[in-house]
Amino acid sequence: MEFDTIAAISTPMGEGAIAIVRLSGEEAISIADRIFKGVGGKKLKDVPSHTIHYGHIIDPANGQTVEEVMVTVMRAPKTFTREDVVEINCHGGLVSVNRVLQLTLTNGARLAEPGEFTKRAFLNGRIDLSQAEAVIDLIRAKTDRAMNVALQQMEGRLSKMIRELRQTILETLAHVEVNIDYPEYDDVEEMTHQLLMEKAQYVRGQIERLLQTAQQGKILREGLATVIIGRPNVGKSSLLNSLVHENKAIVTDIPGTTRDVIEEYVNVRGVPLKLIDTAGIRETEDIVERIGVERSRQVLKEADLILLVLNFNEELTKEDEQLFEIVKDMDVIVIVNKTDLPQKINMERVKELANGRPIVTTSLLKEKGIEDLEEAIAALFFTGRVEANDLTYVSNSRHIALLHQAKKAIEDAISGIEAGVPIDLVQIDLTRAWELLGEIIGDTVHESLIDQLFSQFCLGK
Ligand code: GDP
Ligand code: ZN
Repeated sequence: MEFDTIAAISTPMGEGAIAIVRLSGEEAISIADRIFKGVGGKKLKDVPSHTIHYGHIIDPANGQTVEEVMVTVMRAPKTFTREDVVEINCHGGLVSVNRVLQLTLTNGARLAEPGEFTKRAFLNGRIDLSQAEAVIDLIRAKTDRAMNVALQQMEGRLSKMIRELRQTILETLAHVEVNIDYPEYDDVEEMTHQLLMEKAQYVRGQIERLLQTAQQGKILREGLATVIIGRPNVGKSSLLNSLVHENKAIVTDIPGTTRDVIEEYVNVRGVPLKLIDTAGIRETEDIVERIGVERSRQVLKEADLILLVLNFNEELTKEDEQLFEIVKDMDVIVIVNKTDLPQKINMERVKELANGRPIVTTSLLKEKGIEDLEEAIAALFFTGRVEANDLTYVSNSRHIALLHQAKKAIEDAISGIEAGVPIDLVQIDLTRAWELLGEIIGDTVHESLIDQLFSQFCLGK
C-alpha cells in the first residue's frame, strides 16, 4: 500500500519529561534530514536502521536552532507501522515539541489523524484488529493490571486463541467435506456426526472460558462500579474521601455517563474502582433518600460492588435493614464505622444481615480499618471470579458481543446435530461461527468499522 508521510506528537506512556514527534512513511527520513543537524553533519539517510542520533532541530527557513534532540531512525519493515519511522525525542516541554512538529509539517509531512499510526500498522499487516484495539485500551488503561491485559492482547494472546479456534472449525468443516465426498464408507454419517459434536462442544467450551474472563476484563478496563450507601451521617463522604486520598486517583478522559452522578476513579491494590457518587453524597445526603428508593435501585443495579456503611455508635434502624434488603443479591462489603465511639450497634445482628459477606470495622476519623477494607475489596475481586490472574481477559465490548454471537452459532450447530438435521445446515452454523470469530481479529470486517474504531484513538498513536 502507498501512503503519505504522517507526523504527530506521541507522548510515551507515563508522561515523562520527554515528548516525541513521530514520523511515519516513505519520506520520514528525508523530512527529518531537512530539519535535523547531527554531530559532524551526519545525514540520517546514511545511518543504519534502529539507531539513535544526537543533534539539533534547525528551522531551515531561518537557520534558527529550535531544540536539542535525540533522533531514532527505524527503517521499514521492522517498525510499528511497517513503514520508515523517525522519532524525534524532545525534552524542552510542550512549546518546543509543538515547534518541532510544525517544522515537520512545513517540510513535507501531514498531521496524522487520531489513531492513524495504529491504523497503518493494521493496514500494512503488522497487527490485527484486536491488537489495534488493545492499543486503545492501553491508552485508557487505568491501572497496571488493566495495562497488562491490554499489553497481552497487543502481543496477540487473544488473537492466537481465536486463530486456533477458527483453525479447529475450519479443519472440522474440511473433514466433514471429505466425508461427504466419500459416502461409500458405511458409517460415514455416524462418524461425521460424532466428530462434529466433539469439535463443536470443544469450541463452545473455549468460547465460554473466554467469556468468563469478560466480566473481570470489563472491570479492569472500566473500573469496578462501586456505590457507597448508608443512612445520613454514618460516614459515607468520609469513606469516599479516604478512598480517594489514600489511593492514587485515576485521571480519566471518559466522561461520566449519568447526569446526576459523579464518578471518581481510584486504584485499590490494582483494582480500579469507579466510585459512583450521586451529587448528594457529598452533602450528607443519602442516595436512597435523595433520589428515592426506585431510582436508587436502578443506580444500584448497575453497580458491581456496594459499600454499605453502618454506625457503630448507633443502634441498627429500620432503614439499615431496608438497605440490606435492597442489596441482597449484590456484592456487598459491610462497613461498621465510628469504632472510636462507644458501641451501640448489635454486631450479632449485623452478622446475620451480612449473611456471610465481609464486614469491616473502621474509624474513618482516626484513619483505622481502611487497609482492611482495601484488602476485602481486592479479595472479593481476585478470588473466585476467574481461575488465574494471568488468563487472557477479554475486555473489549465488541469482542464480547462477537463471542456471544459465535457461541450462539455453535449452539445452533450442536442442537442441529442432536436433532439430526442435514449436515450442510450444521456446516452453515459452523461457518457462521468461524466468520464471527474472524471479525474479532479483523479477518472479516467492513471498512466503516475500521474507520470508526481508529477514530477513537488519541492523536499520535
Ligand atoms: P455521611 O452523611 O454518611 O456522608 O457522613 P459524613 O462522612 O459526612 O460524616 C458525618 C459525620 O461523622 C462527620 O462529622 C464526620 O466527621 C463524622 N465521622 C465520620 N467517620 C467517623 C468516625 O470514624 N468516627 C467519628 N467519631 N466520627 C466520624
Ligand atoms: Zn456525606
